[in-house]
Amino acid sequence: MADLSQFSAWMAAFKEKIDANAAELTDLDRQIGDADHGSNMVRGVAAVAELDADSMADAGAYLKKAGMALVSKVGGASGPLYGTLLMKMGGALGDSELTKDSFFAALRAGVEGLQARGKAEVGDKTMLDVWFPALEAGEASDGPLSTALAAALEAAEKGAEDTIPMIARKGRASYLGERSRGVKDPGSASSVLLIEAAAEAFAH
Ligand code: ADP
Ligand code: MG
Repeated sequence: MADLSQFSAWMAAFKEKIDANAAELTDLDRQIGDADHGSNMVRGVAAVAELDADSMADAGAYLKKAGMALVSKVGGASGPLYGTLLMKMGGALGDSELTKDSFFAALRAGVEGLQARGKAEVGDKTMLDVWFPALEAGEASDGPLSTALAAALEAAEKGAEDTIPMIARKGRASYLGERSRGVKDPGSASSVLLIEAAAEAFAH
C-alpha cells in the first residue's frame, strides 16, 4: 500500500508553494482573466490542509477527499478541474503500492478526467498544456518515480512557458481572443507548482 504520509506531504508542499506564489498567480489572472486564481487556490489548499489524513483508509481515499475539498471550496473553473484531477487520481490509485507505474497510471486517469470535465485540447492555453507534456514525460522515463517526476517537472515548466504565445480557446481568457497572447496561463503556472511539490514529496 502507498505510504499515505507521502501524499499528505505532497499536499503540504503544494500549499506552501501556492501561498508563496499566490500574488504572482493572481497577477497572471489579472492580465487575462479576473484576478482570482491566487486566492482561489489559497482557499483550496487551505481546505485540503484541514483534512485528517490519519483517518483515511489509504492514499487513494485521501486524494479523493482532497479533490472533493477543492471542488467544494474553490469558486471558479480551477476548483472543479483540480478537484477532478485528484479525485480520479485517487480512484485509480486506491490502495496500490506506490511505484512509478502506479503513480503515472493514476495521474493519467486524473488528467483524462480533467480533460473530460473541461473539454479543452492541448494548445487551448489551459492547464492541460502542462499536464499532458508532464504526464507523457513521466510515462516515458524508465527510471524510478523520483527520476520520472524530475522529467515531468522539466516538461511541465516548458509546457507553462509554451502557453505564453498561445491564444486562449477555453475559460475566461478566451473572451480576450488575440489579446490573451503574451501572458502565461495562470492555471498552467499553478499546475507546475503541484508537479514541483510531487517531485519533492516523492524524491525518496
Ligand atoms: P476562473 O477562470 O473561473 O476565474 P481560475 O482563475 O481559478 O478560475 O482558473 C483559471 C484557470 O483555469 C485557467 O488559467 C486555466 O488553466 C484553467 N481552465 C479554465 N477553463 C479550463 C478548461 N475548460 N479546461 C482546462 N483548464 C481550464
Ligand atoms: Mg480567474
